[in-house]
Amino acid sequence: MPPTTTRADITRIARMDASNFVAVLYTGADSKPQLEVSMTRAVAKRLKPHTGGCLCGAIRFEAQGTAGKPHTCSCKMCQRHSGALTLAWVEFPSEAVTWTGPGGAPSVYHSSDYSSRAFCPACGSSLGAIDDAPVVALLLGVFDKTSAIDLIPKSHSYRTARPKWWHVEAVKPTT
Ligand SMILES: [Zn+2]
Ligand SMILES: [Zn+2]
Repeated sequence: MPPTTTRADITRIARMDASNFVAVLYTGADSKPQLEVSMTRAVAKRLKPHTGGCLCGAIRFEAQGTAGKPHTCSCKMCQRHSGALTLAWVEFPSEAVTWTGPGGAPSVYHSSDYSSRAFCPACGSSLGAIDDAPVVALLLGVFDKTSAIDLIPKSHSYRTARPKWWHVEAVKPTT
C-alpha cells in the first residue's frame, strides 16, 4: 500500500531537479526520499520553491508552495522597518520556510503583541515578519525572482499613509 500523502506535504517538501523535472518527496524525520515523480515543465515550475535572501547573503530562505495573501502595506511600522514608503508582502506557513544561509534564521525585533520583524544582523536588510501564529511573512524585495505570478499583490493596506505623490500599482502580466 502506498504511503498516504496530503497535498500539504507535497507543497512543503517536494524538490525539483531543474533539468529532469522530477520532484522528490521527502517525508519523516530522517528526510529520506520516499517518492520521485516525473512532471511537466509547468507543474515543475510551480513546485519549485521561492528563494531569496539579504544583501550580504548571510540569511537565505527557501519557501515551498504558493505564496499567500500577496499585498502591499504602507503603514508607519512597515515604513520604519524598511525605510521604504510601501512594502510588498506575501505569507507562508512557518513549516514551508527554511532558512538556508550561513547565518541561519534572521534576528527579530518584537514589534507588536503577536509579531516580530525579521532582519539580517550582519547587513541590516529587512526580510519580513515572523508571527507568533505559525506564519512567516516575507518581503518581495528580498526574493531572487520577484516576477512570479503568485507574488503579485491583490490588495493594498494603509493606502492613506502614503504621500499623495506616491503611487503603487500591481498589474497582472498578460503572458
Ligand atoms: Zn545580510
Ligand atoms: Zn504595514
